[in-house]
Amino acid sequence: MLDSVKYKQVITQEIDYPGFDLHGCSVYLRREDQRHVHISGNKWHKLKYNMIYALEAGYSSLLTFGGAYSNHIVATAVAAHQAGIPSIGVIRGEELYDLVDANPSLSLAKAYGMEFKFVSREVYREKDSPEFLEELRKAYPNTYIIPEGGNNALAVKGCKEILQEGDEVYQAIATAVGTGGTMTGIVKASWEHQKVVGFSVLSGCFQEEVLKKHTDKTNYLITDAYCFGGYAKIDTSLIDFINDFKQKTGVPLDPVYTGKMLFGLREQIQKGFFAENSKILAIHTGGLQGIAGMNLFLAKKKLPQIII
Ligand SMILES: *Cc1c(COP(=O)(O)O)cnc(C)c1O
Repeated sequence: MLDSVKYKQVITQEIDYPGFDLHGCSVYLRREDQRHVHISGNKWHKLKYNMIYALEAGYSSLLTFGGAYSNHIVATAVAAHQAGIPSIGVIRGEELYDLVDANPSLSLAKAYGMEFKFVSREVYREKDSPEFLEELRKAYPNTYIIPEGGNNALAVKGCKEILQEGDEVYQAIATAVGTGGTMTGIVKASWEHQKVVGFSVLSGCFQEEVLKKHTDKTNYLITDAYCFGGYAKIDTSLIDFINDFKQKTGVPLDPVYTGKMLFGLREQIQKGFFAENSKILAIHTGGLQGIAGMNLFLAKKKLPQIII
């Protein structure tokens, strides 16, 4: 259905990095990034039950939405290819039509057979409206539509499986937060004594509303203090952190999600946010395919490159 090409069970490794061990804390990283080369960790979990459902219900293609460097777009293209059905990506930005081959993410999705429909930002904003969805269903008959970011109840169900038996030994769980679907699954699967800390990668913590819709649990908080000014925004301190982390631990981080999450986690540990001797489980949700696109942008701005 959805092959994990390389690893059946992801590893969880203790991370030896300056600052992570203050106040007796220890940080363990769950390497969801290794689950599949192209189906980025949490997107694999989001697609799993959606794919099972779409195939069982007899849909003949998958359609979803995303921006120019979307991990979800790439993941969907590859997952559909594995399942042997066509995929359609509704992409934000008409200007990208001529730039597919210069865009590492879109050209990867194209190589896996994804067909694109480029729309203006205005039209893209209608992505959840019944009229626009109806129009898409007419244009692509019998297509299974997955919302932006892969988020729906089946996605949350899949994300619950990011936590495993035995994870009750951790006092805290840290994850990057975009739409909030991944964190919702993690909170639902968490134990009551645990605190789930979400690092919003965009400004604002509106994802709390998403969580409240899916769960009555309250053992979590979301901070946007480490969003670096907004979605996909970056500065040299973040680039330096990602490169230093790679050099010292061997683990690559992406600039949009996991880099910000671990940067923020380290600051919170240093500030004494966590109880003494906390064991913290951080989720590496993947996203490494986005580094190539970010590096093209950084080169244009004459900023240092991210080491892959
Ligand atoms: C999409 C994504 C997230 C955010 O997931 P949400 O469910 O949208 O909050 C986190 N990390 C990576 C690498 C992602 O690709």
